[in-house]
Order: sequence, then structure tokens, then C-alpha cells
Amino acid sequence: MIPPPAPAGQMSQQYRPQRERMVEHLRKHHRIRDERVLRAMAEVPRHLFVPEALRSNAYGDHALPISANQTISQPFIVARMTELLEVDSDSKVLEIGAGSGYQTAVLARVAGSVFAIERIADLAREAQKRIRELGIYNATVKCFDGTLGWDAHAPYDAALAAAGGPDVPEPLLAQLKVGGRLVMPVGQSRDTQRLVRVLRTDKGFEREDHGACAFVPLIGRYGWTNEK
Ligand code: SAH
Repeated sequence: MIPPPAPAGQMSQQYRPQRERMVEHLRKHHRIRDERVLRAMAEVPRHLFVPEALRSNAYGDHALPISANQTISQPFIVARMTELLEVDSDSKVLEIGAGSGYQTAVLARVAGSVFAIERIADLAREAQKRIRELGIYNATVKCFDGTLGWDAHAPYDAALAAAGGPDVPEPLLAQLKVGGRLVMPVGQSRDTQRLVRVLRTDKGFEREDHGACAFVPLIGRYGWTNEK
């Protein structure tokens, strides 16, 4: 059963038709099935997470540049990753690579609480500000190396990394609850990855492959070592 929608708070009515069209595209073309994810994406004003000059392009199904050479993920990949996490309103979620904060805002609409990490200080600060301005209070964005996880709030029901590493960082696995799900891009090259889902069971970890993807690199102690 689909729970009733949370109050829309200060969610913007601007670009509503474009948002509805984006959601129809996710449903029909990409076969996103989770109605809670689709509803969250119909509500979160994506245009407020992109540079002002790109606002009219915010609802196309593509990634866009944000500041500091990073990107806001493509709507399809946000929807797919969120769906794969299988969260509900009681879930505690860890996010690595908050970037613009768009994925953070979507997660906050479907989960109980979100602890998000971003390694670039300006991005982290702006993401937190946007999220608060939208009236979202169950998500916190902090600046540090997310490959270490966020031990203070562990264990998590779900974890998502929006940057590609050579493998899943050990601390993220350690901070996952038994029964928890982790989704992240993993690849031996910095530029292309496979979308991997890891399920923690009482016997260990099970890995699934969810296809090719291309993310910016995950840089940190358990990721890639430097910018290039
Ligand atoms: N979901 C975000 C995607 C941002 S791109 C959005 O839609 O806006 C990925 C982000 O991961 C970048 O902002 C980059 O700075 C960040 N990142 C890379 N390595 C990281 C690390 N070790 N810890 C935290 N953030 C990291």
C-alpha cells in the first residue's frame, strides 16, 4: 500500500508540468515502478539544484554540470538507485557524494532520515542550505571523506554513493545493517563503472550487477587517490 504523501511544505509549484512529464518518462521509458520514488521526484524542484542558467534544462533526462567540476545525476539514475535501496519512512540512509543535494532531497522524501556526505565544502554548504530552504529537516549534509562512512549514525538500512570507486569501501559495508542494501558505481577505470547493489545478509554480502553507468570519481581513502 502506498502511504499518504508527506506535506509538500515549501516545495515549488514552478515547473510542475515539466516535472510530471519527467516522471511519466521514468515510468514508461525506464520502467521505474516504485510509486513513492516517482512521487518524490514529482515533488522535489530539480531546477533549484542546477545553476540558474540551466534551469530550463533541469527536467531533461540527462546529467548537468554543477559547480566545482561535478555533475547533478541524470533523473533516471537517481530514480533507479533510490528504487534499488528499497527504503521506507523508517529507514536511515547514508549518502556519499551529495553534490547539489538533489538526490539527498529525493531520499529525504522516501526515507526516515538521511546522513549525506560531500567532500567539496562549498557544495556541501550549498546542498544543506537548499534542502533547508525547501523545508526538509530529516537530511543533514556534512563535508568530509565519505569513503569512511559516518560511524556516529551507523548502522544504516541503506547506503548510496553517487561517485564511482575501484571497489565498495570497506567502512560502508561495515556500517550496513544485516538486511541492508548498498548501491554504488564500481569500476576499475575512473570513467566507467557498473552499478552494483550489495545486500547484507546474516551470512555475508551478496552482489548484484545492475548495468553500465558513468559517474564522477569517488576520491578518498577507500576510493581513488587523487584528482587525475
Ligand atoms: N547525486 C549528486 C551527484 C553529485 S556528483 C547530485 O545529483 O547532485 C558526485 C559527488 O561526489 C561530487 O560532488 C563529488 O565531489 C562527491 N565525492 C567524490 N568523492 C567523495 C568522497 N570521498 N566523499 C564525499 N563526496 C565525494
